Amino acid sequence: MTRVLLVEDDPALARALALTLRSRRYDVTVARDGGAALRDASSARPDVVVLDLGLPDVDGIEVIRSLRTWTQMPIIVLSARDGQRSKVAALDVGADDYVSKPFGIEELLARLRAATRRIAPENGESVVIAGDLVIDLAAARVSRSHVNIRLTPTEWHLLEVMVRRRGTLVTRADLLREVWGPAYEKQTNYLRVYLAQLRRKLEADPSSPRHLITEAGLGYRFEA
Ligand code: CA
Repeated sequence: MTRVLLVEDDPALARALALTLRSRRYDVTVARDGGAALRDASSARPDVVVLDLGLPDVDGIEVIRSLRTWTQMPIIVLSARDGQRSKVAALDVGADDYVSKPFGIEELLARLRAATRRIAPENGESVVIAGDLVIDLAAARVSRSHVNIRLTPTEWHLLEVMVRRRGTLVTRADLLREVWGPAYEKQTNYLRVYLAQLRRKLEADPSSPRHLITEAGLGYRFEA
């Protein structure tokens, strides 16, 4: 069973979420404020944290900062829909992903699956199928409708990073650091250029992509 630490001060929302997650066989611990969240994170050792940013005692951003001093457990942030700045701040201090309130439970469940898949050991699952795309991570090959697609090494590396973290947001800084190196963290224009190239090669309709999704101002997400 996957252990989830749910940090949410709204009692009705916390109760509804806990109920749903338990019905999907998650082991849920609920914390009502930041202090309890930090205590429970070390005592309950969750596999993943779902964290509301607006807490009564400390800012959710501070909770992330404290957690990141000792753990890399995945953190999914619940944030207000208009809270673009707080999303960016949360990702900057080490959150892995976010869901905007109000959200559908299926969306949160998909994010949870993606977050926990990322920490699970990769047990030979090297072929990823996304619509008419077949991406073979071990062989470094991609085909579309059974036709091999030729990618440059940089295009492949970019695709690989996103596919390995499929379903989760990959921030622009993360992509630039992993593909080009730490000195290139601010070169977001590289991403625009290379994502456009990848979409032309991989998407049926590059102008409305189904797999290589842009999250404006934040990063990119590969959706299978
Ligand atoms: Ca709140």
